[in-house]
Amino acid sequence: MKRILEGLRELFLPGVCRLCGKECIPAPAYLPKALDDKLCESCAASLAPYAGACCEICSLPFMGEGPSHLCPQCEKSSPLFDHLSTWGIYSSSLREAIIAFKYNGDLKMRGLLSGILIETLKGTWGESSPFDSIVPVPPTSKRLKERGYDLPSYLTYKASKEWGVKWRPKALFRREGGGHVAGLPLKERWRAVRGLYTPREKLSGWVLIVDDVATSLATLRACARCCLDAGAEGVSCATLARTPVTPSKGS
Ligand SMILES: [Zn+2]
Ligand SMILES: [Zn+2]
Repeated sequence: MKRILEGLRELFLPGVCRLCGKECIPAPAYLPKALDDKLCESCAASLAPYAGACCEICSLPFMGEGPSHLCPQCEKSSPLFDHLSTWGIYSSSLREAIIAFKYNGDLKMRGLLSGILIETLKGTWGESSPFDSIVPVPPTSKRLKERGYDLPSYLTYKASKEWGVKWRPKALFRREGGGHVAGLPLKERWRAVRGLYTPREKLSGWVLIVDDVATSLATLRACARCCLDAGAEGVSCATLARTPVTPSKGS
């Protein structure tokens, strides 16, 4: 009932912010065009892309000014992908929008989040895709059945249509159980995802792996390993958001 009322409200009051319900403003230039008149001033401001210094490989935000450089983790060992591109910090409105869709099934967030991913991809790799295929980090089939949708799958589907790249939603498989990485120290996260993902289809050329949030990189590293094992020549990654150091959520 609440959702129906919200839908009707949006229909008759199109100037209502998608995230908080306040009055909308014309969308600032940094937001994807699809988001015109759908956000209030404060939500729009907190959705600005992160522009500070970050790791040149994994985009770990250093939360400050100064030139970008490698983070200690990437300096020590290659994360198995050449670059992770991301839109912003996993906080405020971006975090709320991801949680609203991922855990609460708020489908109004779909346009916002897929728009953000496509802007991220175009901003990093240009107007048309240089990749041979785009692969989502897979959910367990149990989770997919419970929710009926999956954010990385949806994001990669939209990107494949709008950016011209082959969609491979079944290239990777995630087995049930294990892998509850939220809150674990980094080393334990890596241990927790070992053996969780396996390749299910052959791959070739350069592959782009997409997830919603990147924290320790444990999931992305495990998926990159699978893509390389399946025949990919190289792997890049993209996420909507990136958590700063000392993570407590995400994967
Ligand atoms: Zn708002
Ligand atoms: Zn790094």
